[in-house]
Amino acid sequence: MSHADHDTRVRGLKCRLCGKLYPKQALNFCTDDFGPLEVDYDYEAVARSLDRATIERRPRTMWRYRELLPVDGEPTVGRHVGCTPLVKADRLAKAIGHTGPLYLKNDAVNHPTLSFKDRVVAVALSKAVELGFKTVGCASTGNLAGSVAANAAAAGLEAYILIPDNLEQGKVLGCTVYGAKVVAIHGNYDQVNRLCSQIAFRYGWGFVNVNLRPFYAEGSKTMGFEIAEDLGWVAPNQVVAPMAGGSLIGKLHKAFGELQKLGLIPKTHTRMFGAQATGCNPITNSVKTDALKVRPIRNPQTIAKSLAIGDPADGYFASLMLRDSGGWGEDVTDDEIVQGMTLLAETEGIFSETAGGVTLAVARKLIAQGKLDPTASTVLCITGNGLKTQEALLDHIPRPKVIDPKLEQFEALVGAAPAEFATVGA
Ligand SMILES: *Cc1c(COP(=O)(O)O)cnc(C)c1O
Ligand SMILES: [Zn+2]
Repeated sequence: MSHADHDTRVRGLKCRLCGKLYPKQALNFCTDDFGPLEVDYDYEAVARSLDRATIERRPRTMWRYRELLPVDGEPTVGRHVGCTPLVKADRLAKAIGHTGPLYLKNDAVNHPTLSFKDRVVAVALSKAVELGFKTVGCASTGNLAGSVAANAAAAGLEAYILIPDNLEQGKVLGCTVYGAKVVAIHGNYDQVNRLCSQIAFRYGWGFVNVNLRPFYAEGSKTMGFEIAEDLGWVAPNQVVAPMAGGSLIGKLHKAFGELQKLGLIPKTHTRMFGAQATGCNPITNSVKTDALKVRPIRNPQTIAKSLAIGDPADGYFASLMLRDSGGWGEDVTDDEIVQGMTLLAETEGIFSETAGGVTLAVARKLIAQGKLDPTASTVLCITGNGLKTQEALLDHIPRPKVIDPKLEQFEALVGAAPAEFATVGA
């Protein structure tokens, strides 16, 4: 398809509160009511050029759904991102009492920085290039930092990365290595984010999750598109996904809706379940108390630092959507998060970060509560890699047994009580 077709597909930006239309630009809120802006598509134009066969013929990257992404020309950043494995998780299903088909969408192995953030960054930075930005940046709880730094480096963009000063070593190294200008802030994510808004507007830079946020957020839909395609062009009955700012969960839901609107999958009703840590649970708390508003958490305290956003930008919409879809929100303690991480590793051989432990532990809890139907098809979204959050496990995992290079010592060890090799998740 030609670039001209792309141009008419995306009409501009639209306020989610009042519906006011804006031209395509780096702006994330409505100037009338401060409502968040969202990309506005002409779905009839999309439907004319997109069918299953066209998508299936394309390379296995997230850009196979490009007509549903807000980039006008060819994508220039993150061209290899996406199409991560959808893993049938039978051993895990057995362990948590799920009798229906259970799948893991494994973005812990996303290219190039091992988290689902590579999807949103690919869209945001491709758009930043189209809009003419030379300097980009982000406010990050860790994974976004690494993804912006890596993708900006590959695209030759200058990057400023602002992070809270308490992040895990792997996440700090995982962004400084790319030559980005990394600034650690004394304060939590919400304070970092406020500073980024001031910087973006003063310097006119493209901050992916601030002024480029409407474009950025659309990248998350590709996770949902891939899930439906890999299930044989059908949406799952239930999805469990972690929530930080509350954007991903809403975009997964939107993805299934768009595929239905375009006739690419049959009408299905997917119940959406959001997962948080109890130490930072503004969205799940609002769901559980059936509140209309999301009350910010002033001082988040959890090992799931990637999800530690006390004042989530999309919390309000996420909270309503979870209930509207017939789903729910639940949160888990740090101990449950660790158990979730080790259970996932021991049953499916996937080392996820703390956020993966949150998702798994919440799924398990929701089954026990009778809220998640264990007979229905369910997808758990694994969004980040465990090698980046090793601190969370160090005190919980047995150290290797040390012996001399002698067969007798090995045999003494193997012959010893099985408790010698006991693991936490068992
Ligand atoms: C950013 C992030 C999420 C979810 O982010 P939203 O702000 O809710 O879109 C989930 N998991 C991981 C590992 C993340 O880094
Ligand atoms: Zn508005």
